[in-house]
Amino acid sequence: MSADQRTHRLTRRGLLQAGAAVGAAAAAGVVAGTAATPAYGTGPNPPGPDGGERLVLRKGRIHTMDGRGTVVDSVAIENGRFVEVGRNVPPRGGRVIDLRGRTVVPGIIDNHNHIVLMGNRPGHHTPLENAYSIADVQAIYRERAAKLPAGAWITTIGGFHRNQLVPPDETPRLPTLAELDEAVPNHPVYISEGFSGPSTTNSLGKAFFESLGIPVGADGSIAAGSGATGRATLALRQTLLTFEERKRGAREAIAYGLSLGVTTHLDQGAFQASGTPSDGAAHEDNYTMHLPFLALHRDGELRARIRINFLHMESDPQTPELAARLRNQFPNFGDDMLRTVGIGEFIAQGTGAAFAAAALRVAQAGWRAEVHSLTQTDFIAEIQAFEAANAQFPITDLRWVVAHVPFITEEYVHRLKALGGGLSLTGWRYLAGTPAQNGPPFRMIVDSGIPAGMSSDGMQIAPMNPWLHMYYATTGRNARGEVINDGQQITREEALRLYTRDNGWFLREEDQLGSIEEGKLADLVVLDRDYFTVPDEQLKHIRSELTLVGGRIVYDTGVLT
Ligand SMILES: [Zn+2]
Repeated sequence: MSADQRTHRLTRRGLLQAGAAVGAAAAAGVVAGTAATPAYGTGPNPPGPDGGERLVLRKGRIHTMDGRGTVVDSVAIENGRFVEVGRNVPPRGGRVIDLRGRTVVPGIIDNHNHIVLMGNRPGHHTPLENAYSIADVQAIYRERAAKLPAGAWITTIGGFHRNQLVPPDETPRLPTLAELDEAVPNHPVYISEGFSGPSTTNSLGKAFFESLGIPVGADGSIAAGSGATGRATLALRQTLLTFEERKRGAREAIAYGLSLGVTTHLDQGAFQASGTPSDGAAHEDNYTMHLPFLALHRDGELRARIRINFLHMESDPQTPELAARLRNQFPNFGDDMLRTVGIGEFIAQGTGAAFAAAALRVAQAGWRAEVHSLTQTDFIAEIQAFEAANAQFPITDLRWVVAHVPFITEEYVHRLKALGGGLSLTGWRYLAGTPAQNGPPFRMIVDSGIPAGMSSDGMQIAPMNPWLHMYYATTGRNARGEVINDGQQITREEALRLYTRDNGWFLREEDQLGSIEEGKLADLVVLDRDYFTVPDEQLKHIRSELTLVGGRIVYDTGVLT
């Protein structure tokens, strides 16, 4: 039995205990008195809830996203919620933070991503989605290495594309062994693109992989697919992943999101791992991978809100596992910090008989279903199956969702709208899209009036960074600078609304999250530049200076505090 398998066996019991704890734990967020570290996940945990302290943020440009275009200059927070939103809100003895004119927006809600996969990566996973050159990769890795003991693995598995790393007139490529050695000579490195490579490594990594018979080129290249990248990823999982490492990874994944302003993640599961080299970056054990996140929650260390969909991909039309899930799991169960949602982003394998049967079962059980569409035609079969299910068990109040939808037609948008459904839109084409592989049709969908929201679909074939997705949605440009989604651009106001206010609907929490209004949970982001006025290219570089979740300071660069 591998170490990985031992961890899984040991923690099955933990799953049950943690599941019970979800319901019992009170997640009353309150104001924390001290700043967290700006470095993602490397500092101490923020203080826990400590009562009804008042926090007042003043002198900002606070875009409330209340649906009426209200911009205020101050807010007061008590017991994890906004209690006053307006102008010159008085301190009344509370702690005051001067925003010095900064732009403030509600906490970003990512309605469809794979943060649980990111949290379970082997090694010290280091996002490269914000690298714009090979030199950037070197700088990011150097900075990471400076905080780690020599010999610790530095890895990046998914979330970026070589298209980002070279100027438009050069051929896209990954960093070489020599370039990685130059940056981090004392740490083994593994950088793997997308679901299954190609990948690259440095001298220390090459020696490790070759000792296991895994082929590595003289330049550090590791071929895509199960023969090389699949074996390398599996070897790292089997060698490095312990439960404590997964917890560290989960903490760092959440902290990375908070540095970008992402305060709520709706996770959409993984392909079920086989423990063989055919597993890629998107494979994990759907029955144990949430445990590190549940453990953080139990310990009061969960800094962002996690929402969980359960992925099912059975080809058997009887869908026995899905049937068991629907009988034995609670939807929308948990608390403000951690909660289950529905079934997704798959309900069955393919869009045939098993899909239709699964749709019927989910409808009968009264759960939310989410599926994804990637092709010119798959949404047709999906929405027709939704209609058939609805004819037997009404789904119009269940908020079923189709995600990604690069090629959905206006007819099917309206057919899904008639079912009470919604669309999750992502800018994942930013990384590797072309004028033929583009979409989604943001403009048409927003104008249709169907419930819609934005998501990243990170962390394999897309970045988590919401500002990259807003860049794509508003400019139609990919990472090579080419306009590929012309005619479907939306405004910055619309893109931000899709990522905040409109995403409350996807969680069935529109009364709690998504805007800065009295009574709502106090999640907000103080931005380091003005989203509404910076030049397009600057959108990509927007970061948080201060992030609050439930009124608690969970990310702080120290600039304002
Ligand atoms: Zn996804």
